[in-house]
Amino acid sequence: MTPNDAGCQEILAARLQKLGFKCETMVFGEVTNLWARRGETQPVLCFAGHTDVVPPGPESEWQTDPFEPVEKDGYLYGRGSADMKSGLAAMIVALEAFVADNPDHDGSLAMLITSDEEGHARDGTLKVVETLQARDEQVDWCVLGEPTSQEQLGDTVRVGRRGSLSGMLTVRGVQGHVAYPQLADNPIGRFAPVLADLYTTVWDNGNEYFPPTSFQVVDIRAGVGFPNVTPGELSARFNFRYSTVWDHETLKAKVHSIFTAHDIEFDLDWHLSGEPFLTDPGQLIDAVAQAVTEQTGAEPDLSTGGGTSDGRFISPAGTDVVELGPVNATIHKVNEHVRIEDVVALTTMYQRIMELLLLPRPAQVVPDAGSAETD
Ligand SMILES: [Zn+2]
Repeated sequence: MTPNDAGCQEILAARLQKLGFKCETMVFGEVTNLWARRGETQPVLCFAGHTDVVPPGPESEWQTDPFEPVEKDGYLYGRGSADMKSGLAAMIVALEAFVADNPDHDGSLAMLITSDEEGHARDGTLKVVETLQARDEQVDWCVLGEPTSQEQLGDTVRVGRRGSLSGMLTVRGVQGHVAYPQLADNPIGRFAPVLADLYTTVWDNGNEYFPPTSFQVVDIRAGVGFPNVTPGELSARFNFRYSTVWDHETLKAKVHSIFTAHDIEFDLDWHLSGEPFLTDPGQLIDAVAQAVTEQTGAEPDLSTGGGTSDGRFISPAGTDVVELGPVNATIHKVNEHVRIEDVVALTTMYQRIMELLLLPRPAQVVPDAGSAETD
């Protein structure tokens, strides 16, 4: 479980070394990360993911041992089978096949693996990216193997993610007797109209890739537990999932302007989980979409839905990030599973992405009227 991956990265490193990857273990705090690279030149195509998993939940509800991979009726069961060990397995097998066929590919291949995606995510991908930036190692394209598919493998790929910003609010008032409100200052009454404003504000209408920004209160508490006492303080916690219309500074400023339009005494602390990111149309999205379509016969939906991912740490370094992985219906649940055929198909997709990006394009045959070779 996060951040301990029980030796998973060592297995990956051993297989990558055989392919000629230079493997670096990067330890930050309790977290072990792996950076592996094959080749010295640009462009760098990196496959990224995590080896940690969330806790299994009540083991009595599992039909199999959550930490023992079990094949049953064409599915592979186990904690992390979908999120995201089978993505990693598909990457490794695809890399092996591609390098065997194309040992002299263009540019470089890389893998960025962390065991701190499901946990705090402070000592994982973020730190590896900082290390690479400090030594001017630029990653051009990144394919993240998070389980992005909804119903069919490849029906959805993520080309960005919404930002996540939380506010921790304290409203100050004066505690008092409920029968003498003129002698007290009830923070619940103070906050009520602000809350109404926050909920009725249309933050934006989204755009081509993002749904409208959403504001949700996750917790409000006040009260001293007596029916005749009004409280002296209220605390609340809220969260924004926001589009690229905002960054965290402009969003905070907007929230502050709503508060200060009211007569209210408050403190507001913020926690930024990640800014939104969006990968522009280009070679990476084209390659991923083509690889999916060739395999499934359908074009993938290019989406920014779902929670945050480690893409939020990779994208700010100027890297194009696309996420493509197995069906996510059972992730973090008991009896997590993945269809074995999907893992095989995903391997083909990953291999095809490498071919499209790191092999020389077939020379264009340009008809040349001037040099008629007809004589
Ligand atoms: Zn994951």
